[in-house]
Amino acid sequence: MSEQMSYPYEAPQSQSLFERALAVTPGGVNSPVRAFRAVGGTPRFMVSGSGPYLTDADGREYVDLVCSWGPMLLGHSHPAVIEAVQQAVSRGTSFGTPGQGEVELGEEIVARIAPVEQVRLVSSGTEATMSAIRLARGFTGRAKVVKFAGCYHGHVDALLAAAGSGVATFGLPDTPGVTGAQAGDTIVLPYNDLEAVRAAFAAHPGEIACVITEASPGNMGVVPPLPGFNGGLAELCRENGALFISDEVMTGFRVSKAGWYGLEAAREGWAPDLMTFGKVMGGGFPAAAFGGRADVMAHLAPAGPVYQAGTLSGNPIATAAGLAQLRNCTDEVYVTVDKVAAEVSGLVAEALTKEGVAHRLQTAGNMFSVFFTDQQVTNYDEARRQQAFRFNGFFHSMLSQGVYLPPSAFESWFVSAAHDARAIERIAAALPAAARAAAEATEESK
Ligand code: PLP
Repeated sequence: MSEQMSYPYEAPQSQSLFERALAVTPGGVNSPVRAFRAVGGTPRFMVSGSGPYLTDADGREYVDLVCSWGPMLLGHSHPAVIEAVQQAVSRGTSFGTPGQGEVELGEEIVARIAPVEQVRLVSSGTEATMSAIRLARGFTGRAKVVKFAGCYHGHVDALLAAAGSGVATFGLPDTPGVTGAQAGDTIVLPYNDLEAVRAAFAAHPGEIACVITEASPGNMGVVPPLPGFNGGLAELCRENGALFISDEVMTGFRVSKAGWYGLEAAREGWAPDLMTFGKVMGGGFPAAAFGGRADVMAHLAPAGPVYQAGTLSGNPIATAAGLAQLRNCTDEVYVTVDKVAAEVSGLVAEALTKEGVAHRLQTAGNMFSVFFTDQQVTNYDEARRQQAFRFNGFFHSMLSQGVYLPPSAFESWFVSAAHDARAIERIAAALPAAARAAAEATEESK
């Protein structure tokens, strides 16, 4: 408690809700990084969102630079999404049968992303990656999976080795509860290192079912692929009879109409075999998907033998929200979001430079994050070498001035098409003091 009270501002309603939450929920939250453990203090309990703003239980308004960890590309409470949800909910909440919304959402995804010939809807990004891996193993008849240190693919047992996101935030080397057998077929390699992938294929001939990677990682902070890395993975997989899975849960429909695929692969002329999606495609509801080559997807039940299912998969409200959001993610929306991202990241860099704080602003389309280092960050080891202690003062200064950042130095920041001039001005006004706090931070002050 004393740690929480040491910040120079108060959030009594959040504090009281947090105390109740701690009594009934481990750590007081339903997803670890929400708990502010890395930065200290009381997590804000939000009660409403509108455009670029969130309002907490104490009635304080924040410019939101988390956007629900990616989904809210149009901002909060977008009228078209709310309208679609209201209409859908008036017809009932779940039928356990196929429905038109699922077909339309599937068609929207297939139309946007050329390598996705068929798609299966699920309820979370974790389910999407878990199912894609099972399918890759079933299709190839092989067991081993290659993943990269610092890439987070949800809390799938086999993929919680050297994962990013909350695992990076807490510096956990591994997770108790994942057995040696479950992680034993996972080969973890350094990100952006094609030679390591080549060596893994040479060491395990005919054993690797798939290589899975974040299309452009955002879960160790933003660490984009070096030129040729993703294309090289696609080629190595093809040469070795493995499937290439591009995880676009975070980047999909966010960084362009066709996600990271649209920014990179479509131009370079290669394609993943399977892709995973979530976040933006659910419009703030639990909807996610995996899809890809029709011949691979044909192995999925009931068409094929690889089992996969879900009581609420393709839920009518979630699909209505997702469909409304995707249909409103027009070319103009992406132009706006890109512009907002460039403006905000530029302001952050300017403020830190003015205070002499060593930093790198790394970007991937309209995703960006700050590393407190003067070196380019190309993998997880380099990400962890940053002076993360500088982030805490920076974060709390922004928070106290009404700007809500991801509560970790190892997460992407997200903006939306609703971040207008007023919201950006508020960020700009908060940055000088936050940069000063970063400059003054010491290892002990963390
Ligand atoms: N894959 C990536 C790249 C993600 O960023 C995430 C979540 O942040 C997931 C998978 C898991 O998605 P979910 O949290 O919906 O299970």
